[in-house]
Amino acid sequence: MLLNDNFKSLSKSYLFSEVASRIRDFKAQHTDADIIRMDIGDVTLPLDRCVAEAIAQAAMEQSCVSSFHGYGPEQGYGFLREAIAETDYNSRGIDISPDEIFISDGAKSDIANLTDIYGSQAIVALPDPVYPVYADSNEIAGRFTTNGKILYMPCTIDNGFKPTPPRDRVDVVYLCSPNNPTGTVLTRQELAAWIDYALDAKALIVFDSAYEAYITDPTLPKSIYELPDARKVAIEVRSYSKTAGFTGLRCGYTVFPRELTGYFSDGTAGNIHDLWLRRQTTKFNGASYVVQRGAAALYTAPAQQSLRENIAIYLNNAIILRDALRAAGHNVAGGENSPYVWIYPDYDAEVKKGDSWRLFERMLHECRISTTPGSGFGKCGEGCLRLTGFNTPENTLEAVLRIKKSTF
Ligand code: PLP
Repeated sequence: MLLNDNFKSLSKSYLFSEVASRIRDFKAQHTDADIIRMDIGDVTLPLDRCVAEAIAQAAMEQSCVSSFHGYGPEQGYGFLREAIAETDYNSRGIDISPDEIFISDGAKSDIANLTDIYGSQAIVALPDPVYPVYADSNEIAGRFTTNGKILYMPCTIDNGFKPTPPRDRVDVVYLCSPNNPTGTVLTRQELAAWIDYALDAKALIVFDSAYEAYITDPTLPKSIYELPDARKVAIEVRSYSKTAGFTGLRCGYTVFPRELTGYFSDGTAGNIHDLWLRRQTTKFNGASYVVQRGAAALYTAPAQQSLRENIAIYLNNAIILRDALRAAGHNVAGGENSPYVWIYPDYDAEVKKGDSWRLFERMLHECRISTTPGSGFGKCGEGCLRLTGFNTPENTLEAVLRIKKSTF
């Protein structure tokens, strides 16, 4: 069987698999080591009770002939899409209708599957550092070899770790705000500049707002659709993973406004919403009924309150970490309106290949804290390190104590 050559250019393993393997090796050598996990960014707080009850009830429905659900709608059940449209958008003055929402088994799948609808020669702009799925999925689609290309947008201290519109025209731009890994958040003005660019370039913006619930500053946009004309140029990807503890359950959604237009190679226009619907009906049989019932329960008042409380815990952890690292003399971005804390080198420091992994190893050996090396997110991440607030307050305070006692 002939294989996809594009896998040959991919890095040896997915970043978090490499981190996990190094932690395993370390544990094998230090069997008593009590490692505090601040790497992959998995949540630690359990599901809200309303969600668990809704899931249990839905599971019981599946055991009765009269309430059994087989294949569901590929786009997701109406009850969930209506709750999303109303609570996440309409009640905030944003015009999104339920038929523009596609329920998924998580944001990662949707993000990676998007390459199915890009033209083979499409040029894709990605921030550097980048959430690895954006880069790897485009690489698998051949965008490093035969098909189109990737334009990396350096995000460094020079631009406050935020990408700015390129001079060249591209077809697709990926924006992540609050950003994984740097923890920075795009302002209204910065997003407006991107929308203007996309209108002008006839480009599509993939706006990943998986961490929107972490924004507490009311002046910062949680949704790209808060800005005029965004419906004409942007899709928005959201996830219940980090907002509601769904990393294991798997559920998210992507918004495809009806007026989004792309162009085939012969110049004719195509409706992006309709293409995605066609793609989903062919390749996806919908997220599980039981999980969608659980997600719908998130839209009740008590669940919304408990989500806010959980997020406040993670945010507080991030601030504690950020302050401790700054007190230890590090340059730190993020940690505010975001669960991520990003350590970066001095402006004029000479950064060498391998610096991020050296920092990772130092943190692991000296503090018994696992982190993620910035270089795993791209060239501009070299010399940087990412920590997360996804932990208990007790572990976060313990991590801070360990950092204080170390040379880190
Ligand atoms: N987008 C970003 C920026 C993320 O950091 C993550 C998960 O870490 C995802 C998407 C994927 O989320 P999900 O668990 O819904 O697949």
